[in-house]
Amino acid sequence: MNDQLARAVNADGTLRAIAAITTSIAEETRRRHQTDLTATVAVGRVVTGTALMGALLKGDQRLAMTLEGNGPLRKIIAETDAKGMVRASINNPIAGLPPKDNRFDVAGAIGSAGFLQVKKDLGLKEPYHGMVQLVSSEVGEDIAHYLTTSEQVPSSVSLGVTLGMDGSVVAAGGILVQALPGADDTILDTLESSLLNLPPVATLVKEGLTPAGILDRVFEGIGCTVNESIDLEYRCTCSRQQMMKLLTGVAKDDLAALIEEENGASITCEFCKEVYDFSHQELLSFQ
Ligand code: ZN
Repeated sequence: MNDQLARAVNADGTLRAIAAITTSIAEETRRRHQTDLTATVAVGRVVTGTALMGALLKGDQRLAMTLEGNGPLRKIIAETDAKGMVRASINNPIAGLPPKDNRFDVAGAIGSAGFLQVKKDLGLKEPYHGMVQLVSSEVGEDIAHYLTTSEQVPSSVSLGVTLGMDGSVVAAGGILVQALPGADDTILDTLESSLLNLPPVATLVKEGLTPAGILDRVFEGIGCTVNESIDLEYRCTCSRQQMMKLLTGVAKDDLAALIEEENGASITCEFCKEVYDFSHQELLSFQ
C-alpha cells in the first residue's frame, strides 16, 4: 500500500485523530541518507511525526521540525506541507550505538539534552516558531509534549518503525490524537484505554490496516467520521536554479577560491542527496 494519512473526528468534534502509514517515506529516507539501524528508526520516527503534523496544515502552509540533541545524530530536520510532501536531512547518519534493552537506542542516538523546534510558514508575514526541551528523546513523546505545552492542545503521539533483517524499513506509521476544548472526561477515559490496548502502530501497519482502519481502532467505543485520506511521498523541492542561487550567494572571496580550483564545484542537497555539478566556466559566469 502507498503511504497515506487520514484524519478523523468524533461526533461532537472534540477529539481529532490522524493516522499515517509512512513505510515508503521512512525507507526512502534510509536509502538516501544511508543511515545505520538506530538512525533509521530515529529519523523514521521524525518523518512520521512530521507527516502527522502536516495533516494539521492547510493550502500552501509548510512546516519544518528540527530535533537537535547531544547524541551522535546531532540534528535531524524534517519538512512537510499540506499536500503530503515529506523530506528530511540528518547531520550524522551513523548512530553507532548497540541496542539497549533489546530496542534500538533512539533516545541515546538523539541525546537526552536538546530541543525540538517547529517552524511553520502559515502564509503570514512572519513564520511561526515554537520550541520545547526534549523530554524523552524517543520522538513521539517529544512531539506530544511540544503540541501539549507549546501549542496548548493536549496530544498523544505514537510512532513506530520496524526494520527487516537487511536493515530496510518494512513497516512505519504513526497516530496523533488531540483533545479539543470541551472534550468529555468519560470519552477521554474510553480513548485512553483504547490507546493503551492498541498494538504498536508498526504492528497495525504490518497487519495491513489502512489509516482509516487504524482510526476505527483508536475510536473504538466512541465512533468517528474519517475524512478523505491523502497520499504521502518523499519529495524534495531542490533544483539546479536554487543551488545556483546558493553558489552566487557565497561571499566573493569564497567564490574566487572556488574558481581558482579550476575543477568546478558540486553541491549536494542535504535533503535528497542529489549532487549538482557546476563547471569552471559556469562558476566564472557567477562572478
Ligand atoms: Zn533535494
